[in-house]
Amino acid sequence: MAFKALRSGHTNYYVFSPTQGYRNFSCIAIAADLRETYVGPCGACRQFMCEFNPALPIYLVRPDDAVEVTSLAKLLPECFSPKTMQLDFHGNGVAHSL
Ligand SMILES: [Zn+2]
Repeated sequence: MAFKALRSGHTNYYVFSPTQGYRNFSCIAIAADLRETYVGPCGACRQFMCEFNPALPIYLVRPDDAVEVTSLAKLLPECFSPKTMQLDFHGNGVAHSL
């Protein structure tokens, strides 16, 4: 069974934020209403976030206020990112050298 890479709630936030002028993210928190586990970002969101900040710390939060800190380096090692390649994909929609 194949799954389409649909835009999740996480990605919607990232797509919306740059249109509002927010492009530099220092961290992200993801909360889910689960008691004994954490929910990380989906694969599409991991790649999308990596394009903005491959060193992004990610805080996974449960309803009991338990927090697990992880990162894109752990969840998506060696990801492709315009930041690490010194490209600007999100500045004007065209890839070019900075
Ligand atoms: Zn997602």
